[in-house]
Amino acid sequence: MLVDQKEILKDKLKEIFGYDQFRGNQEAIIQNILDKKNTFVIMPTGAGKSLCYQLPALVQAGTAIVISPLIALMKNQVDQLNAFGINAHFLNSTLSKSEINRVKKETLEGKTKLLYVAPESLTKEDNLDFLHKVHISFVAIDEAHCISEWGHDFRPEYRRIRQIIGQLGNLPVIALTATATPKVQQDIQRNLQMEDADLFKSSFNRKNLYYEIRPKKDIKKQLVRFVSQHKGKSGIVYCLSRKKVEEIAELLRVNGFKAAPYHAGLDSNVRMQNQDAFLNEDCDIIVATIAFGMGIDKPDVRFVVHYDTPKSLEGYYQETGRAGRDGLEGNCLMFYSYNDILKLEKFSKDKPVTERDNAKLLLQEMSSYAESSVCRRRQLLHYFGESFDTDCGFCDNCKVPREKYEAENYLLQVLRAVQQTEERFGLNHLVDVIRGSENQYVLSYGHNQLPVYGQGAEETQELWQSVVRQSLLYEFLEKDIENIGTLKLTQRGRDFMAMPYSVTFTRDHDYSTTEEEEEVEKEVPVLKPHDEALVAILKSLRKTIARQKGLPPYVIFQDPSLEEMATFFPTTKDALSHINGVGMGKVAKFGTPFIQAIQQYVEENNIDTIADVVVKSSVNRSKTKIFVIQQIDRKIDLFEIAESQNISMDELLSEIEHICYSGTKLNLDYYLESILDEDQQADIADYFLNAQTDNIRTALEELGDDYTEEELRLMRIKFLSEYAN
Ligand code: ADP
Ligand code: ZN
Repeated sequence: MLVDQKEILKDKLKEIFGYDQFRGNQEAIIQNILDKKNTFVIMPTGAGKSLCYQLPALVQAGTAIVISPLIALMKNQVDQLNAFGINAHFLNSTLSKSEINRVKKETLEGKTKLLYVAPESLTKEDNLDFLHKVHISFVAIDEAHCISEWGHDFRPEYRRIRQIIGQLGNLPVIALTATATPKVQQDIQRNLQMEDADLFKSSFNRKNLYYEIRPKKDIKKQLVRFVSQHKGKSGIVYCLSRKKVEEIAELLRVNGFKAAPYHAGLDSNVRMQNQDAFLNEDCDIIVATIAFGMGIDKPDVRFVVHYDTPKSLEGYYQETGRAGRDGLEGNCLMFYSYNDILKLEKFSKDKPVTERDNAKLLLQEMSSYAESSVCRRRQLLHYFGESFDTDCGFCDNCKVPREKYEAENYLLQVLRAVQQTEERFGLNHLVDVIRGSENQYVLSYGHNQLPVYGQGAEETQELWQSVVRQSLLYEFLEKDIENIGTLKLTQRGRDFMAMPYSVTFTRDHDYSTTEEEEEVEKEVPVLKPHDEALVAILKSLRKTIARQKGLPPYVIFQDPSLEEMATFFPTTKDALSHINGVGMGKVAKFGTPFIQAIQQYVEENNIDTIADVVVKSSVNRSKTKIFVIQQIDRKIDLFEIAESQNISMDELLSEIEHICYSGTKLNLDYYLESILDEDQQADIADYFLNAQTDNIRTALEELGDDYTEEELRLMRIKFLSEYAN
């Protein structure tokens, strides 16, 4: 019976949404909802939260209520669902009286599977009366972090949700959010009274996003250069003020880019127009304020630039999360200056004390993230309460080696300071004590009497702050959830104090004195497995159809699907339905013109298509191929690739060789660099350049004392890619 249900869900996933597999925790979450249990989902942006409540809504009787704070996003989601052939509606202040009546009627007739409701509509008396009459399957609360004032997007009306749901009966609740530090998570669960909920927290790691921070210098020149490197791709540039938004949009326009501004001060028609232009690909770059909840749900945004330093890591993470939602390329560049931090601090000076203190803490986290030289991904994941034990290799700090130092004694001082002040203080106070500050606070606690007092007087405040932060990051210390700002020792910290050992910390960036910051040059991406010309044809077809139907293009088909079509050239409905992201619903709705276009292209260019009969088996093989190319493109460690495909290193190498021999260039430099130094590489390359054969046995006889077979094979691939392809 269980197996049956699993099968049914999987079939529905393919039939309705066109996906072959669930991602991450999706299946377990859906099962939990179907079992009528309270469910708490923490999943990063782009990981696929929506499906977690959409699918169970479809396979159950009744209507699922989805509470979502972003009105713009609601329409978007409902459009997408309708494109899949699903009956979904929304209820918010943008609807006319008669539209509202129609929505209510369809819902009461039991036709509507998902009903999106804004929190403020939820509290209205007549809506409540209506909801009482609806057969509700469950309630989903999207963007649940809005409940917590410790988050970055607190909305007071969210505090009333629990009470209202309570009035509607004993309904299962699923709360979802993309950002929750451990503190915020606790807050959400307490407030929704769902401490008993099953928690599904997925990794926050967005492997395809590249994080980079540059000092804010010559910024306009830098920005123009950066967007030139990404010409024709979709991107978002965030600025702090409306004035800046206008200015930068103009700057980009005069430099020949298709850019448009977007901020709350614009006339709402203009705003809608610009958003639509961006979604419909008439405009490549949108320049926007972060203050405005944009509800951007575009899967193929290729870069996100923070022109100004953001107010919090939560905001930063969510905004950068809008890049590469389809799993393909996503570049995240932030320009940082401490002046921005000071400016932002001033913004909140008239706010109530708790709010101001909280804003300040968030800003401190932001600036320490920017200034730190530790792997960006490691820092971000740690911030969201996830341990990530290695450096990622795919961020600016990993790519450009930073200065390291022996930190055993520094760490010891910090841990002693924490212990001697009885684990009741925060970063600034600890640093004051270590440096022997005579401020009132230190004296009033008598901390000038402690043995650790003044032990680190000869080092700067910045150094000590950085040591404390790295002690946290490497889990010698932890934050006290109940008392915000307070640091405590972990078991690892205690063990270290009992028996100290050598540890290496990284020197922070000193952006104030940077003359010319080294730049991380991005390599031009290698050849793609798909036919670029056909992709272009399909994209323009998609745009035309999108315009006819009044939908954003990606609602029709997403980029990865188009790329797959240009790889397998499906020319029948059945073949088309095998493409990832294409369900039967979409085939019926949009398939015909795409099939015709592919057919025509295939005929004009004499392309051998994979016959329909072999589509199924060869799809998998080619999928591995595409996957491998994409992963190498993203510079993923080969071991990781092999592991995720469940194949041995040997098999992976064969696959790579196969790809290479069939003419695709692969750039493996990132991996080679990690296993062979320059001289060794030159040595092997020299051999292949002069050898009579590229046979590996022969090479092993010659070089086998110094190199492994794997190293030789990898170098042979590099050699072939460079010379033969
Ligand atoms: P979130 O709400 O978590 O930010 P979305 O629900 O918008 O993310 O999903 C992000 C993207 O992932 C969407 O383009 C969606 O179509 C796609 N997606 C979701 N689930 C799957 C799946 N099981 N297989 C493939 N793609 C998926
Ligand atoms: Zn990194």
